[in-house]
Amino acid sequence: MDKLEEFRIETRQWLAENCPQSVRKPGFIPWGSQKMKLKADTQTWLDLMIGKGWTVPTWPKEYGGAGLSREQYMVLMQEMRSINARAALTGRGVNYIGPTVLEFGTDEQKAKWLPTFAKGQGGWCMGYSEPAAGSDLANLQLRCVDEGDVYRLNGMKTWTSDGIYGDWIFCLVRTDTEKPKHDGISLVLVNMDQPGVEVRPIQLISGDSPFCETFFDDAIADKGDMIGPKNKGWSVGKRLLQYERSVHGGVNTSGAQVVEKRQSIAEIAKTYIGVNAEGKINDEAFRTRLLKLEMNDRAYKLTQQRVIAETKASAPALATSILKVGMAEFAKERTEVLLEAMGSQGLGWEGDAFTDKEIRATRDWLHTRAVSIYGGTSEIQRNIIAKRVLGLPD
Ligand SMILES: Cc1cc2nc3c(=O)[nH]c(=O)nc-3n(C[C@H](O)[C@H](O)[C@H](O)COP(=O)(O)OP(=O)(O)OC[C@H]3O[C@@H](n4cnc5c(N)ncnc54)[C@H](O)[C@@H]3O)c2cc1C
Repeated sequence: MDKLEEFRIETRQWLAENCPQSVRKPGFIPWGSQKMKLKADTQTWLDLMIGKGWTVPTWPKEYGGAGLSREQYMVLMQEMRSINARAALTGRGVNYIGPTVLEFGTDEQKAKWLPTFAKGQGGWCMGYSEPAAGSDLANLQLRCVDEGDVYRLNGMKTWTSDGIYGDWIFCLVRTDTEKPKHDGISLVLVNMDQPGVEVRPIQLISGDSPFCETFFDDAIADKGDMIGPKNKGWSVGKRLLQYERSVHGGVNTSGAQVVEKRQSIAEIAKTYIGVNAEGKINDEAFRTRLLKLEMNDRAYKLTQQRVIAETKASAPALATSILKVGMAEFAKERTEVLLEAMGSQGLGWEGDAFTDKEIRATRDWLHTRAVSIYGGTSEIQRNIIAKRVLGLPD
């Protein structure tokens, strides 16, 4: 038996013996926030996976990982999926800032931060966007001044997802106002639990407030917590975005890959549209649309596997833009096909006339509008592909 097969058998056995039944289905996955209390079984699963180094399987053991090879990582993911086990830890700690510190941090920074990410000790927010810096991110203005002992921050960030539950925020800041705009930027880690940081939820039309505005009023950051050289944060920040996009594109091999098992649209469509004498969905045009979607799904999954196998680093570089656009457009099409299958029942927002699944389908459909915006819009990804991948002129 080869070594990989041995690893598969050991992994399967360990999961069978240790993975609680209650986490073998979709549900809440912790992301490190110390402001959220975990259910006992979620905590147990997290502790067990931390013990194995499997919250960040490919990271070196000294930093809380398991030092798995790419092939072993794939095996672990396959085995977890086969029993529908959900990831024990996710979020911007293990998936965005973690691999960035692993790539750009000093030895001291790695020793300080990586084990905390791996153990989910701190929920991380992302401080990139500002009112005048979204797609034009390099326009950011949050000022960061070196005061000798500490850095002092003044300004604001916006669209901070999970801001009210965040413990830490990684921020792109302006450290030099004289230089051309891409050259005066740095990446710094900031504790959100300090008097100088105020988080204000943004109320959405749905009634939810998943985003916040984050204000920095003489907030301080430790001098040791700037990742990468001062004023060179644009490159570091762009690499972090590639880690983010690799998560959205399903090709991240750093932290957790969260994949929900989805109910077959064909089965759902049969109950709403009905079947013909051959047992097929009773609408040829719908069948064709669904078939195209399923073919794209299969092709996309194969592409993800190929990209993972071919990428030496823990996330591809510019190719993440291609994968992010592909995944965003696929996610949107999938929810649209599902709504088409449900007909007017797929347009419910609330009330007894709709089942929970129907209401979820409507909300998922609306939510997928966001996937082509966050992490950089699809238009921006296409600009990157045109300029940096295809080499087309500006
Ligand atoms: C669900 C969600 C979560 C988010 N979470 C976070 C977070 O945690 N932290 C954070 O920092 N940010 C977050 N964001 C913000 C996100 O990064 C920005 O919304 C995004 O980068 C777009 O910026 P903008 O909203 O300012 O839109 P704009 O930049 O104003 O863009 C408006 C429109 O113009 C288009 N456009 C702009 N420039 C160009 C161009 N050069 N060529 C072609 N088209 C262009 C865009 O594609 C878009 O369609 C989140 C956004 C969403 C939707």
